[in-house]
Amino acid sequence: MLSQTLEPPKILVSLDTNNTATGQCDCDGGDCACDLSPVVALPSEIKSSPAMFDKFVRVPNSQIMNLDDSYSICYGSHHQLAVLNKSALNLLANFTNPHNLKDIALDYPDIEFITLQQAIQKLSQARLIIPENYSWQLNEIPDTLTAWLHITDRCNLRCDYCYLPHLPTDMSPDIGKAAIESTFRSATLNNYRRVRLKYAGGEALLCPTLIQHLHLYAQYLSQETDIALDGIVLSNGTLITPEIVEMLQKLNLRLMISLDGLSHFHDSQRCYASGKGSFSDVERGIKTALQNGLTPDISVTVSGRNAAGLPALMAWILEYNLPFSLNFYRENELSANYQDLHLEESQIIEGMLAAFKVIESQLPHRSLLGSLIDRANLSSPHKRTCGVGQSYLVFNDKGQIAKCQMQLHKTVSSIDNPDPLNVIRQDKAGIQNLSVEEKEGCRTCEWKYWCTGGCPLATFKATGRYDIQSPNCNIYKALYPEAVRLEGLRLIKYS
Ligand code: SF4
Ligand code: SF4
Repeated sequence: MLSQTLEPPKILVSLDTNNTATGQCDCDGGDCACDLSPVVALPSEIKSSPAMFDKFVRVPNSQIMNLDDSYSICYGSHHQLAVLNKSALNLLANFTNPHNLKDIALDYPDIEFITLQQAIQKLSQARLIIPENYSWQLNEIPDTLTAWLHITDRCNLRCDYCYLPHLPTDMSPDIGKAAIESTFRSATLNNYRRVRLKYAGGEALLCPTLIQHLHLYAQYLSQETDIALDGIVLSNGTLITPEIVEMLQKLNLRLMISLDGLSHFHDSQRCYASGKGSFSDVERGIKTALQNGLTPDISVTVSGRNAAGLPALMAWILEYNLPFSLNFYRENELSANYQDLHLEESQIIEGMLAAFKVIESQLPHRSLLGSLIDRANLSSPHKRTCGVGQSYLVFNDKGQIAKCQMQLHKTVSSIDNPDPLNVIRQDKAGIQNLSVEEKEGCRTCEWKYWCTGGCPLATFKATGRYDIQSPNCNIYKALYPEAVRLEGLRLIKYS
């Protein structure tokens, strides 16, 4: 039953779970700004090296896709993606029934013992094999508490999918400081190791002095509490100057810029209040950031209107080697009248696959597993699409706290509460961010721990339910295999 091939097993694993592109920076200045689920704990048995007599068995629900004559990719949302040569694939097949290293070594006399041990260890680290009798379970461990600070409602643009009324109101410095204090308070009480602040609007860079003031205070609190701090400014990119870049760098703030296409594809959904397109100013802003040593994350909102322009945009993004994320448009009360923004399935799939073709011809060094398809993260299993209701606070300019920025008006707590996160977690009236295991249609899906069923708000808007699969399910299912294939090709290219 076993192969006697002399070729050593080769296993290329997607361990770039940091994926610091937009997957983990989890933001988007336009339509959505999502937060990934808490980090998932691996059972300690799987982390350790396989001992001589430990029996391992292949994880269920794993699939294999051929990439070329030499390599295949193993995928399944219970484990990490791994590219295997024929010998490694053969080795994996042996674990259909429980085997230990000693059994395997007897069957591969021509391969060095240490080589076999390392290969089995890699299979185990990728969770393609798990200890015999181990019952698979996913634990959610809170790691980062994210706070969205809506520092202004003002904006110089009038994007068609924006969910804000653009009132002439800014957050005051006192409210901002109290919001940051309450974030660190909840982070301390709930044992978070990191706080992530998102400075958002409106256009956040209309208030650079406020950002500076608030983030210096956040840095002070981070030191006082010994909780790590991460900060990002969400911007439309039109107001970037060398001075702004210098300020962001001094404060160690990241920058996320929304860009939805080249020229008219961007302008068609992101224009100034005057109606003039913003592309040329955003392009200038991105180049200014790059020329001054700051690499912005690019957030693309994919809609029916710009899907055809995705390939050209992708070529541009890859040319500048920019981290990016492709996020799907979510309808809101203010955008519902724009029928052409809607995600028509075949149109979106066609545009996305054409963009993937461009990526295939210019495979980047960084993993794209967390940034290619809306809110899905294919880098590691998780249960929830975002941190809403769990690890996420959204402060409006008055210091009231909502669960999601797209429901800024539905506040459930405030800066005065001793532990606002606890109130958010207890709230049963507003948006419910269920585990994928609670969603009808998702429970038996092969993609469930990567996809997690999509944005709960979008699902509720389309179906009136939270406990059901995403209205974009067909789009996701058409794209996931291609994303897996791209990652496999990328791993081979840079192995
Ligand atoms: S509920 Fe939807 S819109 Fe809100 S943060 Fe989560 S994924 Fe984004
Ligand atoms: S939304 Fe669709 S693709 Fe995603 S987990 Fe649910 S059933 Fe699977």
